[in-house]
Amino acid sequence: MSADLRGVQGYFKRLLAERSPQEIEQDLMPSLEGIPPSVSRGDAPGTISSEAVDQRWQMLDVDASVRQQLFDAMTRQQMSSYSKNIENFIGTAKIPIGLAGPLRVRGLFAQEDYYVPLATTEAALVASYTRGAQAITQAGGCTAAAIWEGVTRAPVFAFNNLIEVGKFIMWASEHVETFREIAASTTRHGLLIRTRFNVEGNHIYLIFEFVTGDASGQNMVTIATDAVCRFILDQTPVQPAYWFVEGNHSGDKKASHLSFQNVRGKKVTAEVTLTREILEGHLKTNARRMLDFYRAATIGGVMSGNIGIQGHYANGMAALFIACGQDAACVAESAVGVTRFESAEEGGLYASIMLPNLILGTVGGGTGLPSQNACMDILKLAGPGNSAAFAEVCAALVLAGELSISAALSSHGFTRAHQTLAR
Ligand code: NAP
Repeated sequence: MSADLRGVQGYFKRLLAERSPQEIEQDLMPSLEGIPPSVSRGDAPGTISSEAVDQRWQMLDVDASVRQQLFDAMTRQQMSSYSKNIENFIGTAKIPIGLAGPLRVRGLFAQEDYYVPLATTEAALVASYTRGAQAITQAGGCTAAAIWEGVTRAPVFAFNNLIEVGKFIMWASEHVETFREIAASTTRHGLLIRTRFNVEGNHIYLIFEFVTGDASGQNMVTIATDAVCRFILDQTPVQPAYWFVEGNHSGDKKASHLSFQNVRGKKVTAEVTLTREILEGHLKTNARRMLDFYRAATIGGVMSGNIGIQGHYANGMAALFIACGQDAACVAESAVGVTRFESAEEGGLYASIMLPNLILGTVGGGTGLPSQNACMDILKLAGPGNSAAFAEVCAALVLAGELSISAALSSHGFTRAHQTLAR
């Protein structure tokens, strides 16, 4: 990224207004003076002890009221339930949760009118998703289909040369069935369904694709892949110079073209057709304005180099993920896809979305934590058997958000809504 000369000059002017170049240089030099004590684990693995929590708070130079905010009576009481999800525990953050809905989903797996809990500090977000959800519900619901799934881990093996890579692939390709069996021995619900090979010079990436039951599955696939790699190292006729369990070729926690063109987590698509009455009466816009906006926004997105075409998938998705105990960092990869608007009969609008990388689950991760589990209970989707339905609800919510933001921008209500609700 480059900065223009004026920007650079302005930056240094501001920087040097209060400090000399020598003082700044001194501030930027590494220093070993007075390093404070490390944050100690203090707890046995998988446990949280009150003594260790107290010790950590004593390290902090803060008022008792700060501690009380984060480590209140209920948090103290429920402390042990967090023990498998956090290290160096000091308390819990309180994030407001709003309810969006009703959201009628006519899915392959989700068949309800949902009230969706959204945890966010962004004013106007819940109101906007509620407006979109109600539009969908007034149309009789959105059709949704979770159609494909797979979670990848991609270990990389480095050899001395391509000849060794060739020998390795020949051996590995004859042992794919054994890889599957070894992976299966580490998990009851995970299944290695596909192994692909990607050669780059003397590096080979093995792309292991799993289905992971109702878990989002990143731990599951890491543990299974590690076991397969140990077998490989033990048995391969040609030893790699070095290897890593993940070679950054799985798309984990980042938007990638690879995941966009395949699947990472669950692939879900959803559609709805809104009538002229819903567009005008509820969304305060019309199909023509929505399509004009969609075209301009699509071109703007292409010129920005976006992966896919979309307005703001991350907004509602992040709020749903946080409320429901999903790994919020996975929004980076999950909030990718394609939104499409078309004109429909009699002034109506067809709208669809496609999400190829929804990494979410209804078991494991943070889904069993107290408030997160309560949010899954609001959706009636806690526990085994519900992940495909949860993915469809997430897609329906994303569709609601695309409709609502496009309606707001196309009718020039976007700024007003934020001014009214956020100031
Ligand atoms: P997990 O909580 O580690 O594993 C899910 C657990 O649920 C497994 O023990 C599984 O048993 C069990 N289970 C019970 N019923 C199940 C069902 N119906 N379907 C699937 N599993 C069922 O969670 P995970 O989904 O594998 O991993 C998610 C977590 O990984 C998140 O917290 C995320 O932050 C973290 N993460 C890890 C990595 C990594 O590389 N390690 C990277 C990113 C994120 P079985 O295994 O015996 O089936």
